[in-house]
Amino acid sequence: MEKRTLQHIAICGAGVMGSGIATALLLHQYPVVLYDLNDAVLQRARAKIAQNLQKAVQKGKLAAEQLEAVQQQIQYTTTLADCAQADGVIEAIVENRAAKLELFQQLESLLPDTAIIATNTSSIAISSLQSELRFPHRFLGMHFFNPAHIMKLIEIIRGAFTDDSVVEVAKEFAESIGKIPVVVKDVPGFIVNRVARNFYNEALRIVEEGIADYPQVDRLMRAYGFRMGPFELMDLIGVDTNFAVTLSIWEQYFYDPRFAPTLLQKQYVDAKKWGRKTGEGFYSYDA
Ligand code: NAD
Repeated sequence: MEKRTLQHIAICGAGVMGSGIATALLLHQYPVVLYDLNDAVLQRARAKIAQNLQKAVQKGKLAAEQLEAVQQQIQYTTTLADCAQADGVIEAIVENRAAKLELFQQLESLLPDTAIIATNTSSIAISSLQSELRFPHRFLGMHFFNPAHIMKLIEIIRGAFTDDSVVEVAKEFAESIGKIPVVVKDVPGFIVNRVARNFYNEALRIVEEGIADYPQVDRLMRAYGFRMGPFELMDLIGVDTNFAVTLSIWEQYFYDPRFAPTLLQKQYVDAKKWGRKTGEGFYSYDA
């Protein structure tokens, strides 16, 4: 294996994205520490990662005889101190500014000063997070897409204080796991999620206005050429996470009506119809 700038990665948050990012790393021989708040989440992540790796074997992306060894490369933990040896941390916890900042502050007192901290935030301006940190130069955005072990693009976001060398290390790391890193400017939602707001919000408004129902919208968008319709995609992302991202972008653009959320989406969030992760969203999913 070639010499890599980052060797030991810790991922904070073992939900939809944390599990996918961990899979991507394991498939490229990185040892991983996966941290979350409780064991139930980690058990679900373990099952999801095992399923992802099994599929990778079926698709010929991982040799069957390596499966066992690869699964030994990941440590599941609810103890943040287990991340202390990491030279790179990828944060993938809830899309909530206060929660993320609290975690970064804990990480700063734990990690060596040289460790890089990357956030997978979908929407929060990187400079606004890093300006709260003791060592802002080693902080940046690495925005993966869902499913993270399959989607190639990573938006790399340089904040106002990020060192050039940190951006270079992040790009090299992204390439080492088979991704295409693209450096983008630090604006709320960056590029993909800003463009995508209309994909979700206009689809929701079309349904609210009674113009079509959501299966019709999904069928139409797929027939047009999109891989998934907006409602199928919200179920995959997590309706709760998608709504949090919409609120965050709307707020950061000074409540510009172009990004305004819909009551329909809030009703799904309130009812805990969060999509695949809860078994029901716009569609139903059995276990
Ligand atoms: P998720 O709800 O599936 O998982 C979030 C996890 O964070 C949960 O397991 C929760 O227990 C954990 N968590 C919450 N607070 C924590 C803390 N203080 N310490 C450790 N763990 C904590 O969410 P997700 O979809 O995986 O999203 C995670 C991040 O990735 C968000 O910032 C989101 O915007 C971003 N993101 C999501 C997608 C997507 O499609 N879902 C795509 C790109 C980026």
